Amino acid sequence: MKNTPIYLDHAAGAPVRPVVRLSLEQSLQAEPGNPSSIHSAGRAAGLRLAQARDALADQLKCKGRELILTSGATEANNLALLGIAEAQREQGRHIISSLTEHPSVSAACERLRNLGFEITYLKPDQFGRIEVQELESALRDDTILASIIWVNNELGTENPIEAIAQILKDHGALLHVDAVQVPHWRDIDTRKLPVDTMSFSATKIGALPGTGMLYVRQGVNLEPQHFGGHQEQNRRPGTENLTGIVAFAAAWEDLARKREQERKHLGQLGGRLRDQLHEISGVQINTHPEHHCDHILNFSVSGVDGESLFVRLDLEQVAVSNGSACSSGSQQPSPVLLALGLDPELARATLRLSWGASTDELEIDSFCLKLKKIIRDLRSSTDR
Ligand code: PMP
Repeated sequence: MKNTPIYLDHAAGAPVRPVVRLSLEQSLQAEPGNPSSIHSAGRAAGLRLAQARDALADQLKCKGRELILTSGATEANNLALLGIAEAQREQGRHIISSLTEHPSVSAACERLRNLGFEITYLKPDQFGRIEVQELESALRDDTILASIIWVNNELGTENPIEAIAQILKDHGALLHVDAVQVPHWRDIDTRKLPVDTMSFSATKIGALPGTGMLYVRQGVNLEPQHFGGHQEQNRRPGTENLTGIVAFAAAWEDLARKREQERKHLGQLGGRLRDQLHEISGVQINTHPEHHCDHILNFSVSGVDGESLFVRLDLEQVAVSNGSACSSGSQQPSPVLLALGLDPELARATLRLSWGASTDELEIDSFCLKLKKIIRDLRSSTDR
C-alpha cells in the first residue's frame, strides 16, 4: 500500500507540467517589459504575448483576436454572461442555464436575475446530463443566451454540446460553454462547433492558477465588465499576466501532443477505480456511465457520515474533493448533487476523485484499500 500522500484532486488543481517549469525559468530570465509599452522592451514583451496567444488560438482553431485573456475561468464565465446579456438586452431578457453549472456561472445568472433578466435552469438526469429535449422546450422567442457546462467538474458527466450548439444556432440565441474540464480529453475545433463563447482555466491543465481565457467568436458582441486600459481590444483592461499566459500555452501544446497517450492512461485508471468501487456495498456512482470524461469520478457512500469520511481520508493523507473545490469550507451539500435528486445526507457522503497523467495504479489501489477500511470502521462504529 502506498503510504505517501495520495493526490486525487487534479480537477481542482493539476500538478504543474514539466514544460511549465521550463517556461517559467525562461520567463524569469526574460528582459522586463509591458506588452503595451511602445519601446523595444515593450515590443519584445508584446511579441511574446502574441506568440502565446497564437499558440492558444491554434489549439482551438481560431484567431488570436478571438481570445480574451483573463485571470481564470471565473472571470471568463462572468464576462461572457454579464457582457453578452448587457450587449443583447434590447433583443430579449430570457437566459437558459442548468442546475449543474459551476458557481461562477450560476452566481452570474443570479446577478442577471437581479438586473431584470429571467433565468430558466434546466434539470439534469440522475447523472447530471442535460437532455436536448429539456433545452428545446425551454427556448422562447426572447431567449438571447444559454450557458451550459460541457464536462461537469464535480461529476465528470459530459453534456451533448454539439447537439445543444446546433439547436441554439438554429434558434438564433447565443451559447456560452464552460469548457474548463475539456482540453484534457478532447481536441476542440471552433470551426466545426457553433459555440459563441467558451471559458478555460490554466491551472486545470497543469499551468498556473490565476490564468484563463474566454474564446469569443468573431462578431459576437459583449460589453466589458472592467474599465481602464485598452488591452484585449478594449474588452478586458489591465496588464496581461504574460508569464502565466506563456506557461498556459506551453502546457496546452504539451497536452495536445500527448492527449491520446494520456487519455488511454486516464481511462485505464478510471476503469480500475470503478471496478474496485463496485466491490464495496452501498457505493453509488453518480458520474454518467456512458457520457463521461476520463479523469473524474463521483460517488456516494451510504451508511457513513460524510464529514467523518472526508476527515478520515484527510488524516490518511488522501486529497479528494467532497463536492466542488469552490464550495469547500461549506457544510451545505453541493447544489449539483441535490439537482441529481440525492438526499442531503447522501450528498454530504459524496466524493469527487480526479486524476492526471502523473497518477499511477498504485495510488488508485492504495486509495481503494484505505477507503474500504475507513467505510468498514465508520459503519461498524454506527452499528454499536
Ligand atoms: N468552471 C469549472 C468547470 C471549474 O472546474 C472551475 C474551477 N473549479 C472554474 C470554472 C473556475 O476556474 P478558475 O479557478 O480558473 O476561476
